[in-house]
Amino acid sequence: MTATATPRTNWAGNIAFAAPDFYRPASLAELRAVVARARQVRVLGTGHSFNDMADSPGAQVSLAGLPPEVEVDSAAGLVRVAAGLTYGHLASRLDRQRFALRSLASLPHISVAGACATGTHGSGWANQNLSAAVTGLELVTADGDIVELNRGDGAFDGAVVHLGALGAVTRLILELVPSFEVSQRVYEDLPLDVLDDHFAEIMAGGYSVSMFTDWRAPRLTQLWIKSLAEDGTPPVTEEPWFTATPAPAARNPVPGLPPANSTAQLGEPGPWFERLPHFRPEFTPSAGDELQSEYLLPAEHAVDAVHALQRAGDRIAPLLRIGEIRTIAGDELWLSPAYRQDSVAFHFTWLPDTAAVLPVVTLIERQLAPFGPRPHWGKIFTTPAADLHASYDRLPDFLDLARHYDPAGKFRNAYTARCLGR
Ligand SMILES: Cc1cc2nc3c(=O)[nH]c(=O)nc-3n(C[C@H](O)[C@H](O)[C@H](O)COP(=O)(O)OP(=O)(O)OC[C@H]3O[C@@H](n4cnc5c(N)ncnc54)[C@H](O)[C@@H]3O)c2cc1C
Repeated sequence: MTATATPRTNWAGNIAFAAPDFYRPASLAELRAVVARARQVRVLGTGHSFNDMADSPGAQVSLAGLPPEVEVDSAAGLVRVAAGLTYGHLASRLDRQRFALRSLASLPHISVAGACATGTHGSGWANQNLSAAVTGLELVTADGDIVELNRGDGAFDGAVVHLGALGAVTRLILELVPSFEVSQRVYEDLPLDVLDDHFAEIMAGGYSVSMFTDWRAPRLTQLWIKSLAEDGTPPVTEEPWFTATPAPAARNPVPGLPPANSTAQLGEPGPWFERLPHFRPEFTPSAGDELQSEYLLPAEHAVDAVHALQRAGDRIAPLLRIGEIRTIAGDELWLSPAYRQDSVAFHFTWLPDTAAVLPVVTLIERQLAPFGPRPHWGKIFTTPAADLHASYDRLPDFLDLARHYDPAGKFRNAYTARCLGR
C-alpha cells in the first residue's frame, strides 16, 4: 500500500507530526506488510496525547481503517475489541449487550489501544486505570509477526502499558462487568482546608469522585460525585455536603463554560457510559485549544501535595483553565503510573501556550518531588529520564521486552529516547 504525506497534528494541535509517511491499512495483512517494510514506525491512535509519543522519524500508521470488531464472550465476561475503536463506540455496543467497563476517562473519543498504552484513567478509590481491564492483547511486532499475550504470561504485565514501543496492538481483550446506572451530582465551593481532615472520606463519597480547583483561591470550585444509582449516595438533596453546596443547575468543569457538552447531572440516573465521562459522546471536539499535564503519587500524600501545589498557586493559576484531582487504585502493570500504589492524580488543563506552560510544569514537578510523582505518559511533562527510572523499578525489564520484540528499534522515537533512554 502507498503512503500519504498529509500534514497531521495531535488533537490539541501543539504537536505537528514529523513522520514523513502516513498509512491507513484496511486489513491486518496490510498492516503487517507496512510494519515489516518500514525502517521506523509508530501507531497513531486518536492523537489525544499532548506530546510527541505517537510521532515517528519514518512511518506513522492509523488502525482506524481495520474492521471495528467487538466480540463479547458473555459467559467469560470479556470483550475482544479492535484496537483502533474509541471508548464511545465500544461502550454503547457493550451496553446493548448489558455489559459495562468499570471505569472510563473524562472523554469518550479516545481509542482503546491508545488509552491503554499510556495508563489512562478515570477516578474512584476502587477503580484501577483502563489498562488494568486488559486480559489479553495481540501485537504486530517489528518483523510483521503476530504475538498474543495473555494475563499470566511472564511478559504480560510489562506489555499492557507499552507507550507504543513494543509493536502495533491490533486487538485487546477487556474484562467486563454487568451494565450499571450512575447518577451524578455537582457540588460547589469547598474550602481546601476541609481536605486536611476529610480528603479520603470525600473521595469515598461516590463510585467516582473528581475534585476541581483553579488554584486561584484556597477552594475546590466543584466536586463531581458519580454514584451507583442503586446506592443513591450522596442523596439527592439541597443540603450542603462538607459545607459544599449542591449546584442548582448543570455545570461545565471549567467555570464559565456552557454545560451543554457535559454529561447529565442533578442526580438523574443514566447508563454508566453516559455518566462516567465528564463530556457527552455525541459532542465531538475535533481539536482542543488546551494543553494538559498530570502527576500520580501515593494517595497517602494527597493532602501534603495539595499544600505544596497551593504554595505555587500564583504561578499555576494564570495559565490554568482548570485543575482536577482524582484517585486511582493500584495495579501490577510495570509502566502504569499507578504501579503498586493506590494513587491520587493532580491534573492541569492549561491554556494553549507551551512556552509559558513548560516552566510552570517544571515548578509543579519540583513542588511534588518529595512525594514521588509519576507523570501521565500522554501529557506534558519535563521529568528527566533518570527520575522516571527511579520511579519505575521494572523499567529495565520493560526495555528488555522492547529489545526482544523490536531488536532494531523500529518503534523508537524521540520520546522514547528522551524518556526511556532508548
Ligand atoms: C480532552 C482530553 C481528555 C483526556 N482525558 C483523560 C482522562 O480523563 N484520563 C487520562 O488518564 N487521560 C486523559 N487524556 C489523555 C489520553 O487519554 C491519553 O493521552 C491517551 O493515550 C490518548 O489515546 P489516543 O488513542 O489518542 O493515543 P495517541 O495519543 O494517538 O497515542 C498514544 C500512544 O499510544 C501509542 N498507540 C496508540 N495506539 C496504538 C496501537 N494500536 N498500537 C501500538 N501503540 C499505539 C502511540 O504510538 C503513542 O505512543 C485526555 C486527553 C484529552 C485530549
